[in-house]
Amino acid sequence: MTTEHDYPSLSQRGENLAKFTWDVIKHAMNHQEDFFVSNEVLTKRLKICQQCEWYDIGPHACKKCGCPLDFKSKISIESCPIGLWSEHTDDWMNGKFDKIAKEIEEGQKS
Ligand code: SF4
Repeated sequence: MTTEHDYPSLSQRGENLAKFTWDVIKHAMNHQEDFFVSNEVLTKRLKICQQCEWYDIGPHACKKCGCPLDFKSKISIESCPIGLWSEHTDDWMNGKFDKIAKEIEEGQKS
């Protein structure tokens, strides 16, 4: 542990966080698959939706939140607005976030 160095100022920390957030968004645009659930989780979510009172079969959408389910159900950090299925962050906790952060860091160096 060192006492020689101070943390960055609060505004600098805010800027660093904003930059990292922007880098994650850019990464998401180029590597959408990193933010998707497995086919198994996707199938479970869709089965729940198809039996839900808020499911609209025509556009395959959720009338509660208005989201198209083809997209919403694939996103790992998405959740059902009435709690019938939740975020699926196991992959994130088991190394996916570290992988993304490393790829962002490597991208900044090149
Ligand atoms: S997201 Fe939730 S509320 Fe919407 S259709 Fe699916 S189960 Fe129903």
